[in-house]
Amino acid sequence: MRALTYKIVSFIIVTLFLPLQCMSAEKFKVVLDPGHGGRDCGAIGIKKKIYEKDLNLKVALRVGELLKPDENTEVIFTRKKDFFIPLDERPKIANRAQADLFISIHANASESTAVNGFETYTLGESRNDVSVRENKVAELEENYRNKYNFKDDTDENFIFSNMMLDAGSGGEMSIRLAQLVQSQFKENTDRVDREVRQANFWVLKHILMPGVLIEMGYLSNTIEEDYLSKEENLEKVALSIYQAIVMYKDEFIKKSKTLDDVKDESVEDEIVYRVQLFSSNQKLPANSAKFKTCTPAIELQEGGLYKYMYGKVTTFADAQLLRSKAKMEFPDAFIVVFKNGEKLVGAEARPYLK
Ligand SMILES: [Zn+2]
Repeated sequence: MRALTYKIVSFIIVTLFLPLQCMSAEKFKVVLDPGHGGRDCGAIGIKKKIYEKDLNLKVALRVGELLKPDENTEVIFTRKKDFFIPLDERPKIANRAQADLFISIHANASESTAVNGFETYTLGESRNDVSVRENKVAELEENYRNKYNFKDDTDENFIFSNMMLDAGSGGEMSIRLAQLVQSQFKENTDRVDREVRQANFWVLKHILMPGVLIEMGYLSNTIEEDYLSKEENLEKVALSIYQAIVMYKDEFIKKSKTLDDVKDESVEDEIVYRVQLFSSNQKLPANSAKFKTCTPAIELQEGGLYKYMYGKVTTFADAQLLRSKAKMEFPDAFIVVFKNGEKLVGAEARPYLK
């Protein structure tokens, strides 16, 4: 019962934000969040002792510069200089600006000096070493124990809203952005692709828009520290992030337009809710054991991925029940809305999530 109360509370929170999220003729707003800053150096290079905070800032500023000529895009920075910002201020900046996209830029470190490569995260429920390390910066703040609740999921309401909404940082749009970042990195930099991953990052958990956290390389690896200490390589990293943003924006706007056309023509809209269980690079047979008890699963091919969904209901209340059931076997399951057979993304889906 308690869990249900949280869900209702979170749902009210989400509903309150609905008017803020609607896309209009406004600019496409991108928040660039260079991780760490000031007394928080982030990871420190193993040999040259370069600071993560400096790399993050350099790359973010350069991405901002590259985006500048596009007058339909507005760039907002969480910091533009070397100063400390509390962890909770970062998502607040993005939420206040009603941004369309949140990109947190970091460099990584591992206990193993052999680990190297770049990875991009979207929100997930698991706490891996990277998210624990990146979340740890909050300890540099006074009173952090009262302010942040990392262990206990009484913060469930935000996870819920972000995981449930396709538009949140745990949704498909974030995954799409993460895929684009990884593919551009792969194309522009000759380094190891550690792929799109999911983890419980505090900043991603508290944003109300699609978002990713990029780990551009490992400062604990001498070769990679060396790579990231060169300006020409940081330029390649910045260019990759910039290209991914441009590609994402094109896809996003094209999709919104198509949906507007559908809206104009249709007389009566058919709304259908399904629950997405997972996506896969490979096509799975209908009787695959991977679907567990959620069969028959429905397949949707999108962006080079096979997305597997379950169920078909026509009210949001039923969709929530369906998701609760699926969540027992698929913790990351979320609701997807279809209007006249077309999948709705982002702000387009929100009016139907009530
Ligand atoms: Zn970091």
